[in-house]
Amino acid sequence: MRNFEKSHEIYEEAVNLLPGGVNSPVRAFKSVNMAPIVMESGKGSKIYDADGNEYIDYVLSWGPLILGHANDRVVGKLKEVVEKGTSFGANTEIENKLAKLVIERVPSIEMVRMVNSGTEATMSAIRLARGYTGRDLIMKFEGSYHGHGDSLLIKAGSGVATLGLPDSPGVPSSIASNTITVPFNDLDSVKLAFEKYGKNIAAVIMEPVCGNMGVVPPENAFLQEMRKITEQNGSLLIFDEVMTGFRVGYHSAQGYFNVNPDLTCLGKVIGGGLPVGAFGGKREIMEQIAPVGPIYQAGTLSGNPLAMTAGFETISALTKESYEEINKKADRLVEGFKQAAEDYEIPLHINRAGSMLGVFFTNEKVVNFDAAKTSNLEYFSKYYQAMIEEGIFLPPSQFEGLFLSTEHTDADIEKTIEAIRKAFSKLK
Ligand code: PMP
Repeated sequence: MRNFEKSHEIYEEAVNLLPGGVNSPVRAFKSVNMAPIVMESGKGSKIYDADGNEYIDYVLSWGPLILGHANDRVVGKLKEVVEKGTSFGANTEIENKLAKLVIERVPSIEMVRMVNSGTEATMSAIRLARGYTGRDLIMKFEGSYHGHGDSLLIKAGSGVATLGLPDSPGVPSSIASNTITVPFNDLDSVKLAFEKYGKNIAAVIMEPVCGNMGVVPPENAFLQEMRKITEQNGSLLIFDEVMTGFRVGYHSAQGYFNVNPDLTCLGKVIGGGLPVGAFGGKREIMEQIAPVGPIYQAGTLSGNPLAMTAGFETISALTKESYEEINKKADRLVEGFKQAAEDYEIPLHINRAGSMLGVFFTNEKVVNFDAAKTSNLEYFSKYYQAMIEEGIFLPPSQFEGLFLSTEHTDADIEKTIEAIRKAFSKLK
């Protein structure tokens, strides 16, 4: 049995200092019935806890670390940059370098504004969409998470789903009533809502591949249809690519699926492990933001040189081949999961989009939040605990995806599959 003495000691102290002992809810490990594991360091595909236990890491800081932990190129450049000062509150050239890279890689982005988190990106994109269209209503999908802004914290996924808090107190009903929610992959519901409210819908915000109800890809031509419907109704289409951006493919999800939204939100990989978010899109829309246009958005630390450097070095290091390599490893892992489920007769549905994986203990095909919720949470919790014992660090929630990095080796994948087999053999 692994020893977690130091982790427990640090967490117990944290409980009196931070609400729930954490600075972000899912870190509390509540849904897997464990005390949180306190981390100390990471290198490549490995992460080490405060007691010195080693794990193969499939959380990767919830997605950003596509090059693994403490990547030499990123860390080396950060050391150089930090010596010159950490923040200036004025323009720096690295902002242009990252912006150019983003514009080059993400097909629909012509101009971009940097912010400090995914939440800021989605909140700002929503304001821009409302300001630009002069409409108030927003449409989102059940089980999607777009950060914790008031308008978007309605029937949300991620930690909100994990803790079973679909509608947060503190969001005024007047704000909540401006958000329409529909099931993912359900065109009929989308069309009905547009028939009823179409002329007042400023934007549809969607994860092109959902990653916050577990991983759920779009079916058939769902994204293409969303593009058509929004266009016909004069509503903006916002792709929240905070998770999928630079993750599911070289040109992000919109490049992979060949659908161009009006606005795109970015986070996670764009900051290479430092706090960065961004939103961008058509020049005509983006130029409505202050100081060119009247729609206000600002940030003391936005475009921070350390954060921009980590993002620039991370994205620069990613080639088309990097994605092919990671995807091959993800495929092998999926195969291992499926074989183990078959051999030990465990109900399992697994979704993959690029290097994002959604593992559900159900026989249903998981195409939306309701289907995701059919996963057997007791199985999930038992499997989770067994995997920790085997040295595999997974997101401690059914409603989150697994991520791979360029640093995960074939040996890591095989070791993980062995652990899955052991965990599944003890599940029933
Ligand atoms: N949008 C999506 C799709 C996300 O997955 C997340 C975070 N998991 C956010 C927005 C919010 O980003 P942040 O936590 O950086 O505020």
